[in-house]
Amino acid sequence: MAVILNGKEVAKKTRENLKSKVEELKKKNIFPKLAVIMVGDDGASKIYVRNKSKACEELGIEYEEFLLDENTTQQQLLQLINELNERKDVHGILLQSPVPKHLDINEAFRTISPEKDVDGFNPVNVGKLVLGQDTFISCTPFGVMKLLEEYNIETEGKNAVVIGRSNIVGKPMLQCLLNKHATVTICHSKTENLKEITKKADILVAAIGKAKFVTKDMVKPGAVVIDVGINRNEQGKVCGDVDFNEVEGVASYITPVPGGVGPMTVAMLMENIVKAAK
Ligand code: NAD
Repeated sequence: MAVILNGKEVAKKTRENLKSKVEELKKKNIFPKLAVIMVGDDGASKIYVRNKSKACEELGIEYEEFLLDENTTQQQLLQLINELNERKDVHGILLQSPVPKHLDINEAFRTISPEKDVDGFNPVNVGKLVLGQDTFISCTPFGVMKLLEEYNIETEGKNAVVIGRSNIVGKPMLQCLLNKHATVTICHSKTENLKEITKKADILVAAIGKAKFVTKDMVKPGAVVIDVGINRNEQGKVCGDVDFNEVEGVASYITPVPGGVGPMTVAMLMENIVKAAK
């Protein structure tokens, strides 16, 4: 049976470490602050934003929320971002996705000052990640790397396979693993012979968004399996992209959903805010 990678525990430990860093900053009259922008009324986004605000509260990080109407124009959104870029008391700016279809989210991400881009979505920070330079790393892949590190899981020289090529998870995940000297393959919806590729993975990361997509026959015995997915099963319960009950029997390590990558994502956002404030 695989060892469970307990993201909830590691995230808690990470937040505790950060708490003292926040206190140190406050002694120097720096009061870390996150500004969150949400446009429209997406149900899942509300839950994510609530989790982030709760984490800020726990750590003593100040938090300001901007709830914009669904009909907000691109110009209004950019104007708000520019105002927040200028504000000295705001250290981190986060634009919650998705935004309504009429808005250009890429332009919005580009407008967030790279120094306040705690989600790591500004092309400047993405470029720095590619070049292996110090930067804000997208919180989910950053959290996966932290989890691997905490469990002393070696990445150097290992075959890592990432399923999913989104800008927020798959692509930065590939880059993080590459920066830690893994041999990385990225797969997506057009990949042929997916199973043959995933079977060779020492580290398999699933970021697809389809419940029970990764089955036992796709996993090399002894592999480390990281499940990024957040889906609902037929009973409406939260589940990942990996068929946990099956894969647990072949993997050496596995992340549960919930309680794996999800809490790490929020913890790494806190890490990025503290870094921004510093
Ligand atoms: P996305 O929809 O942007 O990307 C999904 C990727 O899966 C695409 O690149 C696509 O090519 C690939 N894919 C789809 N079908 C496939 C197939 N049949 N074979 C191989 N690849 C296939 O999604 P995303 O934003 O990257 O999110 C992925 C999942 O991770 C979702 O369930 C999302 O909710 C979850 N997520 C979790 C966290 C967290 O904190 N745990 C953070 C972000 C996203």
